[in-house]
Amino acid sequence: HADAAMFRAKQTGRNNFQFFSAEMNSAINGRLEMMTKLRRALGANEFTLHYQPKLQLATGKIIGAEALIRWPQADGSMISPAQFIPVAEESGLIIPLGEWVLQTACAQIRAWEKAGHAAIPVSVNISPLQLERGNVVDMVTRTLAETGLAPQYLELEITESVVMREVEKSFAILEQLKALGVKISIDDFGTGYSSLSYLRRFPVNTLKIDQSFVRNISSDPNNAGIIQAIISLGHTLNLNVLAEGVETEEEFRFLLENRCDEMQGYYLSKPVDEEAFVQLLPPSDA
Ligand code: C2E
Ligand code: MG
Ligand code: MG
Ligand code: MG
Repeated sequence: HADAAMFRAKQTGRNNFQFFSAEMNSAINGRLEMMTKLRRALGANEFTLHYQPKLQLATGKIIGAEALIRWPQADGSMISPAQFIPVAEESGLIIPLGEWVLQTACAQIRAWEKAGHAAIPVSVNISPLQLERGNVVDMVTRTLAETGLAPQYLELEITESVVMREVEKSFAILEQLKALGVKISIDDFGTGYSSLSYLRRFPVNTLKIDQSFVRNISSDPNNAGIIQAIISLGHTLNLNVLAEGVETEEEFRFLLENRCDEMQGYYLSKPVDEEAFVQLLPPSDA
């Protein structure tokens, strides 16, 4: 598309370049506007977390949850994190926003525990900039101390592409996080390019199979094969394997039959607010 547009622009002269730059301008203005709104929303404490349960396939029990940020709007709609997380990354706002997510999730687990529910591990997404620039290890240490949460209840999700982009630096950070006692999972696994030798060295607990492979398992035999390969790779390396984005009974059965360890997806539950999530939690004596 861009090439074709460029070709037309070259053919018809200078004015079209002005048209393209006006388009670029409005894209930049859109991001600036979003950035300003984000900064204000963070100050006004407008964000909230939803929780999506994780199911252990062998037992049928809910054994964890993923915290996912939500930005409710005055009109009742929500802006998707897919839209604003990239802007928060670009602007550096992800550093304070990411810290808010971590503190809120840790405080929430403690609150569930105090309310008499069995404490369950919650995972929090860590974005590339937090890993590269923010001091994740200090942030986690501080938050655990402030909330009094035991480290084994916290899990950090890091996307595969990020870990593989800066291998040595990621390795050092993951080692320090492991020493703190928190768990690590590799998010969107299968979409990056993991070197198997790195994967063996890395102190990770879980591979989260990207939902693009889970989708259409039956219609696309390649996807089924990729999932089986990731499960067997994970088990060979003694890792826990979780499938994301499970929507149908067919997908669920396939994962069960292929001995995937855990699943997450609309088939079990969408991400829900804390009041709805607490209904899914077992009592502490269960
Ligand atoms: P992710 O970490 O891979 O999260 C999974 C996404 O898939 C979530 O979208 C979740 O709502 C969605 N999902 C779960 N089950 C299903 C399913 O069965 N079908 C379909 N179609 N989708 C499903 P969400 O909440 O919109 O988040 C999108 C991405 O935004 C996340 O991908 C993550 O990369 C990022 N994100 C979300 N919350 C945070 C956060 O607190 N911090 C950071 N840094 N990133 C976040
Ligand atoms: Mg995630
Ligand atoms: Mg994912
Ligand atoms: Mg992701």
